[in-house]
Amino acid sequence: MPTTHPETRAAEPGPDEPNALSTDTLGVQTSTTQQSPVAATVTTRPDAPTGSGTFVFDFADGNKDLKDLLGGKGANLAEMTNLGLPVPPGFTITTDACRWFLLHDEEPTELAVQMEEHLSRMESRLGRTLGDADDPLLLSVRSGAKFSMPGMMETVLNVGLNDASVEGLATHSGDPRFAWDSYRRLVQMFGKTVLGIDGARFEERLDAKKAAHGSTNDLSLDADDLRALVAEYKDVVRAETGRDFPQDPREQLSMAVLAVFRSWNTDRARLYRRQEKIPDDLGTAVNVMAMVFGNLGDNSGTGVAFTRDPASGRPGSYGDYLEKAQGEDVVAGIRNTLSLDDLARIDPASHTELQRIMHVLESHYKDLCDIEFTIERGRLWMLQTRVGKRTAAAAFRIAVQLVDEGVIDMDTAVTRVNGHQLAKLMFPQFDPKADRTLLATGMAASPGAAVGRAAFTSETAIEWAANGDDVILVRRETNPDDLGGMVASRGVLTSRGGKTSHAAVVARGMGRTCVVGVEALRVDPKHHEVTTTDGRRFAEGDVISIDGTNGEVYLGAVPVSPSPVAEVLRGETLDGRIDADEHELLDAVQRIMDHADARRRMGVRANADTPDDAAKARGFGASGVGLCRTEHMFLGSRRGIVERLILARTPDARNAALQELLPLQREDFVGILEAMDGLPVVIRLLDPPLHEFLPDFTTLSVKVAVAEALGKRDAEAEELLRQVQRLHEQNPMLGTRGVRLGLVVPDLFQLQVQAIAEASARLKKAGKDPRPEIMVPLIATVEELVVIRHESEKTLARVATETGVDLHIPIGTMIELPRAAMTAAQIAEEADFFSFGTNDMTQTVWGFSRDDVEAAFFPQYMEHGIFSVSPFESIDVAGVGRVVGIAAWEGKEVKPDLTVGVCGEHGGDPDSIHFFESIAIDYVSCSPFRVPVARLEAGRASILGSTQVASDTR
Ligand code: PEP
Ligand code: MG
Repeated sequence: MPTTHPETRAAEPGPDEPNALSTDTLGVQTSTTQQSPVAATVTTRPDAPTGSGTFVFDFADGNKDLKDLLGGKGANLAEMTNLGLPVPPGFTITTDACRWFLLHDEEPTELAVQMEEHLSRMESRLGRTLGDADDPLLLSVRSGAKFSMPGMMETVLNVGLNDASVEGLATHSGDPRFAWDSYRRLVQMFGKTVLGIDGARFEERLDAKKAAHGSTNDLSLDADDLRALVAEYKDVVRAETGRDFPQDPREQLSMAVLAVFRSWNTDRARLYRRQEKIPDDLGTAVNVMAMVFGNLGDNSGTGVAFTRDPASGRPGSYGDYLEKAQGEDVVAGIRNTLSLDDLARIDPASHTELQRIMHVLESHYKDLCDIEFTIERGRLWMLQTRVGKRTAAAAFRIAVQLVDEGVIDMDTAVTRVNGHQLAKLMFPQFDPKADRTLLATGMAASPGAAVGRAAFTSETAIEWAANGDDVILVRRETNPDDLGGMVASRGVLTSRGGKTSHAAVVARGMGRTCVVGVEALRVDPKHHEVTTTDGRRFAEGDVISIDGTNGEVYLGAVPVSPSPVAEVLRGETLDGRIDADEHELLDAVQRIMDHADARRRMGVRANADTPDDAAKARGFGASGVGLCRTEHMFLGSRRGIVERLILARTPDARNAALQELLPLQREDFVGILEAMDGLPVVIRLLDPPLHEFLPDFTTLSVKVAVAEALGKRDAEAEELLRQVQRLHEQNPMLGTRGVRLGLVVPDLFQLQVQAIAEASARLKKAGKDPRPEIMVPLIATVEELVVIRHESEKTLARVATETGVDLHIPIGTMIELPRAAMTAAQIAEEADFFSFGTNDMTQTVWGFSRDDVEAAFFPQYMEHGIFSVSPFESIDVAGVGRVVGIAAWEGKEVKPDLTVGVCGEHGGDPDSIHFFESIAIDYVSCSPFRVPVARLEAGRASILGSTQVASDTR
């Protein structure tokens, strides 16, 4: 139990307080202080930069934990320097300096002075001067943000070369070709990056020179060619900018630094950050380092290496090497690279040294490291290292390998993987090597890869599926009547809606692949075709493929590979069907999941509405059902009965409808309680708006109008239309929904309570252990709950007497409206449990319509940086999270044993799960397919501590 009231702790940290978040080697933000549940709802951002202080750090003065200030590259260069590894000397300009520059469009006044001090110190240490005419010191200027943004920002190499120092470099190195090649690279990179000249202006001249030699290889150019090329490049600079290429080395340096700062805000960098959910206000550091040359003759080269294979996770180093080349050439793919084995042959001494250093780094970081290195005339230099990115499969394998090698413990291993990676492993995927034709991209709503014939109505989908066809249901948007079509389909594609739209929520619940909000598609059910905004089309019946992991839609069938990980997590045995490699992966996943389960505090339940889904969830390790939505039980073939119930004008008519529904509901509950025997099943009383049960207003109006036009009257349709008009609402999601429906339609909720009670009594008599819990939706005030509770207790007592079975069924409530949350203390007096409906809570706290806004304006909000992720996808910690935190707190204060869960979509979202841990939520409930993800993240959250953890997938 928390001990301090949240309101007293929820303040922003004061200006002098240290930032509570720091970053571990995985890029995971972890807290250095234990926070109260609600204090954790404050989003921590870097303090506003100040225009004074230390802006430049020598490599020897930093360390790997200073990523906020020095960026990932700078922090790790400092760490390697301090480990005594061969890092060329240099210094890092801080992210604070960048952020100041970006805010004020000028560098902090102290920056130039500090850079000069560090540069002079470096010059005297090396005995060389930047751009000296005899033996010049040259510099590389590279970006380096806190989170790796590969290739997104700028780099300038060979800073310090000019018309004089190039001659000095030629003489001193004894290699004029090398000197002129370095100079042409500088003019080219500087021209493009610093002066903003289109790179093609340089490329075309380079290509022409190579073509003149009948070659496409840059090695075919000799010193004279390169000297001539430099002259041409300088002409380009003059023509494009109206000024000469700057000859002053110090001016080159300061211009290059500012260009790197500016590159933080290029379109591509912004786009990358949006995709990777990296905040826009971090800024980049700049690393200035003495150049070492991989293009200096035969025994030079440059390469990248990994201490283990980042694709498969297999132990043993792995890398690419390019002789006579400079940094960017390896990744740019200008020539085919060699392997590290080739390096061992060409330069055994450097290879041995590289292996030694890789071993040192892996032991130090206790993880897979990736490295950039350069060999200059047989001498190895380290230019970069970091804890390397890896595939999802490699992440699991490497974590467990490191445990078996005694490098890390199981707790650490669990923190080395995450739910996003597990989800990737669980869903079938398109064969990455297969050809495909991209048609359009929408929102990835439910992962997986699905292929099938496009069906434009649920009826068609059901019919084709019954004939054995694989089907993709394609709709503008789905509604509850599409459930049958969704069940029959392999995947669902909609042109409208967001991640909490009907299609998305239901598809996720069923584990169906789903892509929503594909705005480029125009679905025309009348003409049975879909056209795209760029003029392409497909017809109903054509085969399409949809990728629910990235939102892509393809024409035709893309081959799919199934996931053995999902099968094993569901408790199936695959012996004989998998090879040794897969076996190792499955074993790693299993061990990590077992440990996460052992360590987690939070329970994980499932949102499941059918016995099948409940059984699936149980297989995936759910410890109960946290939300059984009962609405679909009232649709389909039962819609007519419900319609009669709502429109009934006499108690007898209403009673007749209720008596028809009762046995059907009872069977529904018997099924789901049986599938979850011995585990809690939270059954939510009916929630959706009234109009969903009524005949369609437009269809009825047309029917009446047509009858009138033909001179006939359809009295029944007219009466129905009057009733539907009477019950019509402008804002159904804020209308007669949830508990309001239960209070407006007499006996509706009690029918459900009776069915739950009778189902339990029947199962108990059969020796089973049903554990239903009754949940009232959408309450805003305790009085609503009091009325429903009172009636329900009477119904339960009556059934207990009739059946002779002792029935103790807890009665709790959803907390999904701000008023309910703010009066949680009163509500807790009357509730046996709370379950937070964070979908509706997000809708009502923000005042957003959950069905519309994601497609309507979220893209622009993302572009403006107002959101880095949709608040319907990941909990808005500062707003919605704070409301949830306060309500959970106040509820528990009144009733310490109040069970508090979360059953909105956020219950399956990794980042949100860490937040729920921080506010002491008892369990999360999510769709069956996300149960393993939630188990893993709940384990990670326990291990990492009660703190908000940023997404560590970047
Ligand atoms: C919610 O609002 O978060 C919730 C779980 O209920 P529904 O999505 O069914 O409205
Ligand atoms: Mg709700």
